Amino acid sequence: MVGKSVILTFELLKLTKQFITTNQMKNRITILIIASIATLIALSGIQAYLIENTYQLEKKLFVQETDEAISDIDNHPELDSITDSIGEELKASLSDYKNKRISKAAFIQKIKIKADSVNPQYMKRYTTELDSINLGYKIRYKRQIVSIVTFDGKKTDSIFPTATQQNLLILGETFDDADAQTIKSSRTFTEFEFVDKLNDSVFINSIDVEIKTKDLIVITDWKSIVFRRMATLLICSALLFLFVVGLLYYSIKNLINQKKITEIKTDFINNITHELKTPLATLGVASKSLKNKEIQHSPEAFENTLNIVDRQNTRLQKLIDQVLTNSLSSQDIVLSKDTVVDTIYFNDLIADFKLATQQKSLHLINDVCDEDVILRIDTFHFTTALLNILENAIKYGNDKVEIHLKTEVRNNKYIIQITDNGSGISEKDQAQIFDKFYRVSHGNVHNVKGLGLGLYYTYQIVHAHQGKITVQSELTKGTTFSIIIPIN
Ligand code: ADP
Repeated sequence: MVGKSVILTFELLKLTKQFITTNQMKNRITILIIASIATLIALSGIQAYLIENTYQLEKKLFVQETDEAISDIDNHPELDSITDSIGEELKASLSDYKNKRISKAAFIQKIKIKADSVNPQYMKRYTTELDSINLGYKIRYKRQIVSIVTFDGKKTDSIFPTATQQNLLILGETFDDADAQTIKSSRTFTEFEFVDKLNDSVFINSIDVEIKTKDLIVITDWKSIVFRRMATLLICSALLFLFVVGLLYYSIKNLINQKKITEIKTDFINNITHELKTPLATLGVASKSLKNKEIQHSPEAFENTLNIVDRQNTRLQKLIDQVLTNSLSSQDIVLSKDTVVDTIYFNDLIADFKLATQQKSLHLINDVCDEDVILRIDTFHFTTALLNILENAIKYGNDKVEIHLKTEVRNNKYIIQITDNGSGISEKDQAQIFDKFYRVSHGNVHNVKGLGLGLYYTYQIVHAHQGKITVQSELTKGTTFSIIIPIN
């Protein structure tokens, strides 16, 4: 007894140490969760920024590659001569414009007509040349004039763009500039000579002409091509991100579990302190009474007090045993199996239970299956396991306790069902009642005494018998515990 008490005190001291750190742990977990979420957000931001940068770079690189691949097409003699023919038309029209024979609009119109007439031939050749390169993806091409400005030594004259037209398509296909990539911007600056007239005298005049053009392409499906090139990077960063999230989730979950265990152990200290207080106080009073001369002279009172000492001693012994035996798991429990007949076993169990509880309002329905079934169980452990459930039905029951003990055989398995009409257990608590030290708390107050070890012990014993235990319950309606053990 002294040895066990020392072990128990030592256990309690260890648990008290953990209790002190519970609040610190709670704060630490909150800080850790906030820090982890903030780090994750920062990480995601940095990753998104890097991916966006890589995307822009890849896009640029892809357009550059395409540009290099198609740059030689322009130099084809047929395409060159078509471009030259537009240049000739431009010169002739410029001469007409400078001699005021045509307006700016007519000048532009003339170039447009010329471009439209040669464009089909240009596109045919361009497409043939493009096909021969075999790019592996489709592109659309166009060249447009951005501006035409002349300078006669005194003033500049902006012929194009006009108020209504910003870009003049001369070669290629029509498409929206917003979807296009500029692959070439060129500026041609030449001195242009033309025949001019002033007051009936004809002379050669010269002006400077600046023509700006732009070559644009649209790569169909370029987004999916760039994304495909970035696939490895995207998959790796997604996996890495998921890994970090998983790791953080796992660590935080672990910490929360640790915190829960600490809380449960703290609860346990409170419960066991409470449980130990009553028998110790009773023992104190009883031992004082035994010193009392009056009691010593009354054999009946003396006997009564001794009985009290005996009962409280047994209670203390039971409490300590419960704590010590419950440090065992189902693998550590060594069973000493007996062969029993189920009807006899349950009849004895129910009779003993009724006698021990002496609960007047208890109505216990014995619904053990009629046929005799031979069971191989460790009667001591198995009886304690079942008694834990039966005692709980009274502890957590209402004024008129009704227990239904039913057994049946199904698929070579023996099923024991114990149903009560008690307070019931919420779904959240059902998942934890078999945990060591777990007790259902009602706003941090435990109305009924206990250590949270009974169902843990029952669970371990059932599993040591290769069995299973489950619970079905509804708050305020009652609870059913089902135990399934194999029949050998
Ligand atoms: P203890 O009874 O010592 O607290 P147990 O392991 O036997 O420990 O039970 C764990 C918890 O499960 C109890 O605190 C109680 O809230 C709940 N419980 C167990 N059996 C019942 C029942 N029949 N009805 C309602 N609640 C129950």
